[in-house]
Amino acid sequence: MGHPSINDHIEMLRPAVTRLKVRSAVILLAAVCLSMTAIVIWQAWNSRQYQLHDKEVAMSNLAQTLASQAQATIKQADTLLFTLVDRLEHDGVDPSRLPQLLNVQRSELSQLHGLFVFDEKGQWIANSNGADQTGVNNSDREYFIFHRDNPSRGPHIGPSIKSRSSGEWIMTVSRRVNHPDGSFAGVALATIYLSHFLQLYDSIDLGSNGVINLIADNATIVIRRPFKETDIGTSLAKSPLFTRLLPKGDAGTATITSIIDGVERVTAYRRVEGYPLIVFTALNKDEVLGSWRMETLLSAGIVTLLLSILGMLGLRLIKLMKQQNLVQVELLDTQEKLLEVNRNLEGLALKDALTGLANRRQLDAFINVELGRARRSLSDLALLMIDVDHFKAFNDRYGHLAGDECLRKVSAIITDNIKRPGGLAARYGGEEFAVVLPGTDYVGAFLVAEKIRRAVLQAGIAHSDSSEGTVTVSVGVGASNAASQVRPEELIDAADKALYVAKASGRNMSVIAN
Ligand code: GH3
Ligand code: MG
Ligand code: MG
Repeated sequence: MGHPSINDHIEMLRPAVTRLKVRSAVILLAAVCLSMTAIVIWQAWNSRQYQLHDKEVAMSNLAQTLASQAQATIKQADTLLFTLVDRLEHDGVDPSRLPQLLNVQRSELSQLHGLFVFDEKGQWIANSNGADQTGVNNSDREYFIFHRDNPSRGPHIGPSIKSRSSGEWIMTVSRRVNHPDGSFAGVALATIYLSHFLQLYDSIDLGSNGVINLIADNATIVIRRPFKETDIGTSLAKSPLFTRLLPKGDAGTATITSIIDGVERVTAYRRVEGYPLIVFTALNKDEVLGSWRMETLLSAGIVTLLLSILGMLGLRLIKLMKQQNLVQVELLDTQEKLLEVNRNLEGLALKDALTGLANRRQLDAFINVELGRARRSLSDLALLMIDVDHFKAFNDRYGHLAGDECLRKVSAIITDNIKRPGGLAARYGGEEFAVVLPGTDYVGAFLVAEKIRRAVLQAGIAHSDSSEGTVTVSVGVGASNAASQVRPEELIDAADKALYVAKASGRNMSVIAN
């Protein structure tokens, strides 16, 4: 009974092992694909953040540099203005000498387009260009209106304008001139060429869509690179720079969308020290990320290729594994079938084909084993030899096939009447049967013998050549008690002899061996 349990184990484990192997392969494949994808995405994201940060730093440095440049450029002009205002208010200047003075001062600074003085009505008092000034009134200019209405003495930077005297684009830096009593006496104005800034701005590589802005405190554009006349004076009050960024600090970086052209840019901004100006530098975000995008696309392409190769190989492997498992299952099935056939053959080798009872071989082995056991455990063992009476005559009258049928019936009756554990019924040969009854003495065995004999008689199998008119059996009972030490042949011989006595005594009876 040991072999089937191993088979059972194999049977139980097999489907689980198969499923587990294929499943772990699938999980492994999925995990590799997912982690590779995750790594690529993570790397791409990191490199994107790095690119953006790198350019923000670059823009911030540029804004710092340009703010210094703007401050220095304006400061030079404003210093002239400051001295001029001081002299106008305190020393008094001879109006006829003023143009010459202005001209000398202007020529000291290359960025300076002109120096102008207006009276409280906006009339030109003097300019550095030496041109005729009568009748020209600048009271409509933003800077004039600003100083007239505003008592502050600091420098003012107005929106850039096209010069009335030369037609060039200029930036205005102005200061208020007061009468001794503090009332408005006019405006001193320095104008700076926008080209002075633009030349510098245009020389900086900001890609095709980069921007540099100089913006006045009131949110109007003073200069914008790329230069477009219509942009000058445009208000940026609603742009994120003024709504979000400047309230938070005087310098910073951000990625914002321009309200001028709708382009998203990586930007930096910085207030110009001492002047109401802001420098704003920006790179097109699309351009900043252009090389990153190429790189990312390339690596994504390579990884996709690798993943698809890996996936294909993996799927093939899994398919092969499944096939292999299938073959294994089939092999095990076949093995199981072979074992089954083997068991059947084994059974056949031990069984009598006609009656299904144990055959002579099994009987001999059984008697040997049981006698040994009886000897060791000092218990009894009985043997019945059963022979059908006048069976030759039965065969002759009813035919061989009926004889076979009769033998089957008798063997069934024998089996039915020894229903106790450990007993064995066997076909001894021809129409002779043997029953081994372990743990049974003469008396018990005789009772079983009688039970069988009566049962055969009562089965009423017609046999007209028998004295009873039905098939009967004779039984010889042999037994080995705990004290005696009989050998198998002796036991069989004893039962045989008892059977012979039964036959001789008239048949249809059970006889105990003496
Ligand atoms: P007795 O009462 O003395 O036992 O007489 P008997 O005729 O039964 O004894 P005998 O040994 O002379 O005859 C046995 C017969 O059993 C002979 C044989 O034809 C028949 N026989 C033996 N084996 C088989 C079998 O497998 N099938 C059939 N139908 N008959 C068998
Ligand atoms: Mg016989
Ligand atoms: Mg017989």
